[in-house]
Amino acid sequence: MSDFPSHPYPWQLQEWQQLGHQIFANKLPHALMFAGAKGIGKRHLAESLAQLLLCLSPVEGTPCGKCRGCMLNRVRNHPDLIVVAPEEGAKGIKVDQIRSLIEDLGKTAQQGGYKVVVLEPAEAMNANAANALLKSLEEPAANTLLILVCHTPSAVLPTIRSRCQMRLLPTPNTEQVIHWLKPLMVGNSTPVEKLVEAAGRAPLTALAYLEGDALERRDAWLLNLIRLSSGQVTAIEVAAQWQKDDVLALVEWFLVWLHSLMRWQIGVEQILINQLPQNLRDRLAKVPASLLHRYVEKILISKRQLLGSSNPNKQLLLEEMLLDWGALLRSVK
Ligand SMILES: [Zn+2]
Repeated sequence: MSDFPSHPYPWQLQEWQQLGHQIFANKLPHALMFAGAKGIGKRHLAESLAQLLLCLSPVEGTPCGKCRGCMLNRVRNHPDLIVVAPEEGAKGIKVDQIRSLIEDLGKTAQQGGYKVVVLEPAEAMNANAANALLKSLEEPAANTLLILVCHTPSAVLPTIRSRCQMRLLPTPNTEQVIHWLKPLMVGNSTPVEKLVEAAGRAPLTALAYLEGDALERRDAWLLNLIRLSSGQVTAIEVAAQWQKDDVLALVEWFLVWLHSLMRWQIGVEQILINQLPQNLRDRLAKVPASLLHRYVEKILISKRQLLGSSNPNKQLLLEEMLLDWGALLRSVK
């Protein structure tokens, strides 16, 4: 959030308008869940909404940028905006953090208006933390808005989900992302289409890929996947190599790639799949969508294991994933 006040991204305007109508009509719920893919700006929208609610004299549905509420937000020090996220180095949101949040919510707003909580990611709450939060969702304080930001709603307790008004935030289409990214890429030679495809059309992820070597690492990852798919290397060899890298990032690339593959199968995605060897493309075209869906479900479980506290054996997890992929391809040979 570099600019202040922050404006929603172009692909969020419809959602933003709807939220504005709700504020105007005094129909904002006490808890919202912003769900959607990683890297599409859910947190940004939550912060924009918080700024608007904490502004003392909004102008045409945007924060004025000048009042006391705005000044406090500008320096990221508004006492009535509470951000809850995993502590540094920790994977999850702990029950103590939720207890301290509930204590804060019990006090009146210091600036006399709204209290806004942005909790991200909601799926990072363990069972104890989620149960503690549930109580405050059941007995909400007046003038309080909880915004739960969430990448995987299915990983959040159903009782939490059902007490939030759900907002599925859209992933922009390829053209929208390119339009937004291009001005930010002046002087950069990375092909924008490739960048957008690699990021699964998540604009902020694409932007992050411009810094560092993520795109090169992803190229190497994809090459290995192609070689495995055509039988040049074994699943065990590839797993041994992959487990030395950031396994969670690899699993996320694979998920993005599989989603592109599914979109390609139904004719709505062209980009990278067309660059694969012809014989592999022919086989991928024949993989039944139902099998692909089941495969994606299994990888999502692996991803959850990697995000959780169980510390799974990465080599075994990758081997199983890659052996299953080989079996899937063999089934359509
Ligand atoms: Zn203001």
